[in-house]
Amino acid sequence: MEKDPGFDSDKSLPAVNRDAFNQFVREKLQACKQTSGIFGLIKLKIMSLRNVNTAFGYQTGDRLLAEFAHRVEEVLSTTDIIIKTGDSEYSICFPSLMNEGHIILAVNKILTSLENKFSIDGEAIFINIAMGIAIFPNHANDHDILLRKADIALGEAIKEKKNYTIFQERMIKEAPFNIIVEKELKTAIANNEFVLKYQPKVNLQNRSVLGVEALTRWTSPSLGFVSPEVFIPIIEKSNLIIPFTMWTINQGLKQAREWRLTHKDVSVAVNLSAVILHDHEIVDLIIRSLNIWDAEPVDLVLEVTESAMMTDPERSMETLRRLHDFGINISIDDFGTGYSSFAYLKKLPVSELKIDKTFVTKMAKESDDANIVRTIVDLAHNFGLYVTAEGVEDQATIDQLIELDCDHAQGFYIARPMPLEDLLNWLGESHWSRKVA
Ligand code: C2E
Ligand code: CA
Ligand code: CA
Repeated sequence: MEKDPGFDSDKSLPAVNRDAFNQFVREKLQACKQTSGIFGLIKLKIMSLRNVNTAFGYQTGDRLLAEFAHRVEEVLSTTDIIIKTGDSEYSICFPSLMNEGHIILAVNKILTSLENKFSIDGEAIFINIAMGIAIFPNHANDHDILLRKADIALGEAIKEKKNYTIFQERMIKEAPFNIIVEKELKTAIANNEFVLKYQPKVNLQNRSVLGVEALTRWTSPSLGFVSPEVFIPIIEKSNLIIPFTMWTINQGLKQAREWRLTHKDVSVAVNLSAVILHDHEIVDLIIRSLNIWDAEPVDLVLEVTESAMMTDPERSMETLRRLHDFGINISIDDFGTGYSSFAYLKKLPVSELKIDKTFVTKMAKESDDANIVRTIVDLAHNFGLYVTAEGVEDQATIDQLIELDCDHAQGFYIARPMPLEDLLNWLGESHWSRKVA
């Protein structure tokens, strides 16, 4: 690819093609990585250009753009670079930001510079712009992802009729971007982009490890790390939910074989989405998976949220009953946040309640939360169910849970979710862990 002469020395450039611009950002970002610097990118769109072209002609439109770029240049510092990257689109690179606030200062200067009307060919014209901001290393580790996220932020600014927005992860689960995410998700299983992390669950009564919860992590080549709270709802709305769920169960049971060599009674818990319970076919798929990995039903635990059971309760209950009758333990996740009635609790084919972490995390400091935890522990025991407290973040909470007679605990204080290899080490070293060969 030919470099435009003066590419680096000029502050502004005429229009460049996308490849040249991508290459430029890649190089700048590379330099930034070497100096551990912060790199900011703004994608800027002029919203009213079409009207200007229609009303006054293309020549006026072109002159307006030139004048616009000039005004923006004036307020940028010497190291910042503005490049025209589309008909009505500019990209501004900030290769040496001091901090995130620095880019907002620049954004405000740009907006102020546009407050006065432009006077082009005797016409008085105001310009309306939208900007999307993404910053390295906060939002992305490589140039492709940075560009994508600045585009996503720009889309959000346009949709919300704002002058600018900074990229936030929640944006990628909102239309129209979830279409991008869904497209990426389609190939994610085949491309090995998902991994499971495992978080131990311990028995507080005899101080042993009874299981691990499998939590899915996704790193997309074009979007970077995307949290399960963002991608799971998109999977749930797509036709990927069965393949995805079966991937988690198969991967969990396959990897469990590694720790079962030394810790054969440590089960693996997998989260099930509500929608999967409406499909009875899942029962056979899960049983087949147990056979494939030579696992017993008690080696697998299925975590289902309260609200999942309450959407179409008849069908969900039937699916859960079959799984439970087969010998698989079912756990009600996030208990306390939903709306299950005691009448249902009596009928549910479950063996455990998991108290939502919002109550557990603060229970050592807030007596209201401690009371809720006590009530749920008693409730569970009255129904003959085990109870797990999740979200345990300190020793004081462990002490309190033991006093309340809570059976099991899980949380960052005991161990964070970790890759298989780390889990194997943890099981070998932790004081919670006993070998049962
Ligand atoms: P969840 O099932 O309630 O999982 C527990 C979440 O709490 C996990 O977040 C875990 O990392 C976090 N956590 C664990 N201990 C602590 C603690 O001590 N303090 C705090 N503040 N948080 C703690 P994660 O992994 O981000 O998962 C979020 C949610 O995404 C899960 O909530 C679950 O609903 C869903 N999810 C994750 N993986 C899967 C999956 O494979 N399938 C389905 N259907 N959902 C999944
Ligand atoms: Ca869970
Ligand atoms: Ca939970």
